[in-house]
Amino acid sequence: MQGFCDQHIHSALSLDGRSPLLEQVRACRDAGVTQVCFTEHIDFGTQDGDFTVDFDEYVRQIEQARAAFPDLCIRVGLELGDTEESRGRVLEQSNVLPLDFKLLSRHLIGGIDPSCGAKFFAHRTREQAAHEYCHAVYESVTRFPDYDAVAHIGYVFKFVQGDGFPPLRYRDEPDLIDAILRFMAEHGKALEVNTSRWTRFGEGMPGKDILLRFCELGGEWITLGSDAHDTASVAQGFAQATECVKACGFEYLAVFKQRRAELVRL
Ligand SMILES: [Zn+2]
Ligand SMILES: [Zn+2]
Repeated sequence: MQGFCDQHIHSALSLDGRSPLLEQVRACRDAGVTQVCFTEHIDFGTQDGDFTVDFDEYVRQIEQARAAFPDLCIRVGLELGDTEESRGRVLEQSNVLPLDFKLLSRHLIGGIDPSCGAKFFAHRTREQAAHEYCHAVYESVTRFPDYDAVAHIGYVFKFVQGDGFPPLRYRDEPDLIDAILRFMAEHGKALEVNTSRWTRFGEGMPGKDILLRFCELGGEWITLGSDAHDTASVAQGFAQATECVKACGFEYLAVFKQRRAELVRL
């Protein structure tokens, strides 16, 4: 494979981004990333308020980065945080710009983000949390009308993992996970391997068991995303994640340009 393809990265244009877009691109180049797609957040009703993007500024900064780093493919995407309540507004925001990539994500479960920790987990067992989460992801994946890939399946345990909570496993909710993966395979949606916790836990979201199942159910397309919010996290775990994806039976990564997948041999 010629260079890494990172299709989930944030800049300071996102409410929780910490590094300016140009610095993120420089970090990509330094980490061996040759194709990068920014996926700034659109997400309503979070504990930190509403996440929207200054679209004019987004385009301006992308153009500036393309001029500064002409050897890199720099693309424009959004991470669309779906809920039943906000779906219409998210969809509206997702159509403001011509995008290369729409990454669907589900952060809020019953109106709360599991990243809140105690507030979310105080009234739920691990089993209940896994069930509610998978149900919410199923709802988003099957109802959100327009997207290319699904981000970080297993997010529900991202912030508690290692603290007595194993990551989400296929065996936690096999029926719901099958329903999610089957829908994605049948509709040509890509599954993201999110590496944001790779350094700590040595695996991506989702883990190998869920990737293997996606392959078994006929899923073809995988994207790789660091979900970096600062320069230190760019391309985290990408070499190992690439090996993991190959070991699960996939031969290609899907890289999106103008909403079309180009296949990059692993
Ligand atoms: Zn974020
Ligand atoms: Zn996310």
